[in-house]
Amino acid sequence: MKKIAIIGGGIIGLTLANYLDLKQYSVTVYDNPIGQATKASAGIISPWLSKRRNKKWYQLAKDGAAFYPKLVQDFALPHSVYQQTGTLILRKDRELVSLLDLAEERKQTAPEIGTVQLLSAEEVKAKLPLLSASPAVFITGGGKLDGASYLATLRQRALSRNITLKTEQVHISQVQNQWRVHSKEQIESFDTIALCAGPGLSDLLKPLGLTTDIRPQKGQLLAFETPYKNSGSWPVAMLDGESDLIPFGHGQILVGATHENDGGFDLTPTPEAFTHLQQKTGPFLEDSNFFEQYPVSYRVGTRAYTSDFAPFFNCLPNNPTAVVASGLGSSGLTTGPYIGFLLAQYFNEERNDWMEYQKPIDCYVSK
Ligand SMILES: Cc1cc2nc3c(=O)[nH]c(=O)nc-3n(C[C@H](O)[C@H](O)[C@H](O)COP(=O)(O)OP(=O)(O)OC[C@H]3O[C@@H](n4cnc5c(N)ncnc54)[C@H](O)[C@@H]3O)c2cc1C
Repeated sequence: MKKIAIIGGGIIGLTLANYLDLKQYSVTVYDNPIGQATKASAGIISPWLSKRRNKKWYQLAKDGAAFYPKLVQDFALPHSVYQQTGTLILRKDRELVSLLDLAEERKQTAPEIGTVQLLSAEEVKAKLPLLSASPAVFITGGGKLDGASYLATLRQRALSRNITLKTEQVHISQVQNQWRVHSKEQIESFDTIALCAGPGLSDLLKPLGLTTDIRPQKGQLLAFETPYKNSGSWPVAMLDGESDLIPFGHGQILVGATHENDGGFDLTPTPEAFTHLQQKTGPFLEDSNFFEQYPVSYRVGTRAYTSDFAPFFNCLPNNPTAVVASGLGSSGLTTGPYIGFLLAQYFNEERNDWMEYQKPIDCYVSK
C-alpha cells in the first residue's frame, strides 16, 4: 500500500481523495481552509457561452460540465448540493440573437447545454421573479453547486472510507524518494504527493527551488436572506455585466462576485464591493430596494490565476511522484471535480492523457 498526501482540501483535493483506489493508497488530506475559494464560491456551472477564446480552456470547461452527472451519481449529491435549474443569460436585444446562434453552434459538440430558448421579458420574469423586464437566452443544462455543502458531503464520505483529514497549514520537502509533510506537531513521510493548494501552491514549491506562475485574486460576493421559499428551483441569471444572481434554497440569493487582482490574500469585506455589485445588479432587479431590505453577509475567498488565466494540472517537471493542480480562476467549480477525477485516474491507473486541456507544465512551474 502506497502512502499519498493531498495538500489542499478544496474542490480538487477532496474530489481526488474520494476517487482514489483505497486498495492501492492510504490517503491523508491536509487543509488550512482560511480563504479557500471553494467554500466562498458563487456556484455557477454553465461555461458554454463564455466569451473566452482559449480553446484548451473551453475543452476542459465543457468536459468538466459534462462530468457533473457522473459526479452527482458517484457521490449521491442531493439537490441541496447540486441542482440543474438552467441558466438565463441576459443581453441587449441585438446581442441575444448572436448569443442564440452561439448556443446552437456549441450544442453540436456539447449536448449538455440542453434546450436553448429565446425568452421574452415576461417569460424571464416567470422563471425568476426577482428580475425586472429583460429578455434572455435560456439554456436548460446550466446548474449550480453549493461549494461549501459539496465539501461537507465529500469530507463525510472520506471519513467513512478511512481517509485521514487534518486541518493544518503545512509545508513540504523531498528527501531521496520520499516526500515529507511538515506540520506544527510532526513530520510525516509519503511515497507520493498531490499539491491542490490553490494560490498557496507558490509557497509550497518555493523550498523545492521552483517558481510558479500563480497569483491570488480576491473575490467577494453577497449572500442575501430573503423570504422566497421556492428560490431553490429558480435558474441562475448571468447578467449583462460583471455580476450574476445565484438563487439557492430557503431564500438565499447570492450576488457576485468581484475579481480583485490587486487584493492579494486579503479577506476583508469592503463597502466598495457592496456598492460595485449593487451598481452592476440593481438595474436588472424588479425591486429597487433589494440591496437595502434583506439581511446580507459577505463571502470572501482567494482564487488562483495564471498569466494566461488558464489552469494547469500535471506532474512536476521530471517528477512522477508529485502532481500539482492550480490556476482554476473563476471557473474552478466547473473544472475542479473533473480535474480531481483525472488526477485520481493517474494515481489509480497511471493514465495522464491531459494535454488537450493545457499547455506544458513548464509554462507554469520552473526552476
Ligand atoms: C467569490 C468566488 C466566486 C466563485 N464563483 C465561481 C462560480 O460561480 N463557478 C465556478 O466554476 N467557479 C467559481 N469560483 C472559482 C472556484 O471557487 C475556484 O476556482 C475553485 O474552488 C478552486 O478550487 P481549488 O481546490 O483549486 O482551490 P481552493 O478551493 O482554494 O482549495 C485549496 C485549499 O488549499 C489550502 N491550502 C493552501 N496552502 C496550504 C498549505 N500550505 N497547507 C494546508 N492547506 C493549504 C487552502 O487554504 C484551501 O483550503 C469562485 C471563486 C470565488 C472566490
